[in-house]
Amino acid sequence: MTVLPYADALAAYDPVLGLEVHVELNTTSKMFCGCSTEFGAEPNTQVCPVCLGLPGSLPVVNAKAVESAIRIGLALNCTIAEWCRFARKNYFYPDMPKNYQISQYDEPIAYAGWTEVVLDGEIYRIGIERAHMEEDTGKSLHVGGATGRIHGADYSLLDYNRSGVPLIEIVTKPVEGTGAKAPEVARAYVTMLRDLLRALGVSDVRMEQGSLRCDANVSLRPVGTSSFGTRTETKNVNSLRSVERAVRYEITRQAAILASGGRVIQETRHWHEDSGITTPGRNKETAEDYRYFPEPDLVPIAPSREWVEELHETLPEPPTVRLKRVRADWGFSELEMRDVVSAGAVNAIEATVAAGATPQSARKWWLTEIARHANEVGVDLEAVGVTPQQVAEIQALVENGTINDKLARQVFEGVIAGEGSPAEVVTARKLAIVSDEGALAAAVNEAINANPDIVDKIKSGKVQATGALIGSVMKQMRGQADATRVREMILDKIG
Ligand SMILES: [Zn+2]
Repeated sequence: MTVLPYADALAAYDPVLGLEVHVELNTTSKMFCGCSTEFGAEPNTQVCPVCLGLPGSLPVVNAKAVESAIRIGLALNCTIAEWCRFARKNYFYPDMPKNYQISQYDEPIAYAGWTEVVLDGEIYRIGIERAHMEEDTGKSLHVGGATGRIHGADYSLLDYNRSGVPLIEIVTKPVEGTGAKAPEVARAYVTMLRDLLRALGVSDVRMEQGSLRCDANVSLRPVGTSSFGTRTETKNVNSLRSVERAVRYEITRQAAILASGGRVIQETRHWHEDSGITTPGRNKETAEDYRYFPEPDLVPIAPSREWVEELHETLPEPPTVRLKRVRADWGFSELEMRDVVSAGAVNAIEATVAAGATPQSARKWWLTEIARHANEVGVDLEAVGVTPQQVAEIQALVENGTINDKLARQVFEGVIAGEGSPAEVVTARKLAIVSDEGALAAAVNEAINANPDIVDKIKSGKVQATGALIGSVMKQMRGQADATRVREMILDKIG
């Protein structure tokens, strides 16, 4: 696949984004029946005639899901419809047994909103077209192929546990004027949305489990023009970093096509995490293909203004206000906060501080040690496998002198590798600092005896030479000694 270098693409073309985010609500039951929504159960154990689409079954709307939809709409500054209906979106797919999905079409519950994201200290306003309610489909599992896709598979399995789980689809208006920052703005938007939805308490927002999913629409137009180019919609983008990478890749791919006089095809594309490219999916359906019509089995939704007003009172603080507040609370510099925001670490740090760590130590671990693991594996921070609680525990072990920063890195490694709690890893890997003065003194003596030339230097006033002896002691102690104490002991001994 030919791509244009990113800088060349941006010199000639202006990207326009459109982001569609599907969020699975964390209601205990499904959108239109009483089945459980618990993730990870045995396949097809959480199903009933309604979510299996059996003839004669009738859906009933989950009031809690409507409440969550309204709160999401309000948090995104949307107008809440006084009256709206569900619609049938007709298409065939094996994981959708009714052959239509109950969704909303021209009457979404929330519309015409906006939100803001902060990137590198700048605020970008993102228009929200709509937030509507719908049900999730089941899941297909293609067995036997190399890629996990249907092509080349021997057979497919279907799991309808997810069928009918409440979803909210949040659609932005075209996002213009981001220029070269488009990929990062896309990532910042999804990060902000994730944090906001979590603060609302309406979803688990776990991208790696699919409870938050993003489709990224990208189109290009020649710099200086205003009409939109043909867009593609990239699916399968299941981490924050993939959002950024997928948008960046599409910009360079489309630019190469346009620069060579070609035409971008309007289509759905798939993102491939491993190779970092998108490949064509199906040609994009238009609304007519879905033959939408109002769902005759459900009554319209007409939330009272009093109820909407009540729900308004339950909203968390807006994202930009929250960022200002936590920066002040944590005493971070503008630059420190920028890094935290772009790493998507605000929630993680907040939770780590709540678990007892200082803001600076929480920032340090999330942005260095954990970020390094996340990069190596290619996942988001929160999918690395260490919890804020554990980060706080490791920091507490540093502060009470059980380990030092260097040993803490090994504790992180162990926790991430699934070896147990921080304390268990310290014990199992024998990482605790040796505070046994006898053992330390023996190591100090050995270092002194083995390095008479260095001892002479120290005696003649070159105190900085102590470093070499400390190093020798630390080596003997496998790093498990308190360097300050070792230094004291050496100087006592020689002095
Ligand atoms: Zn059911």
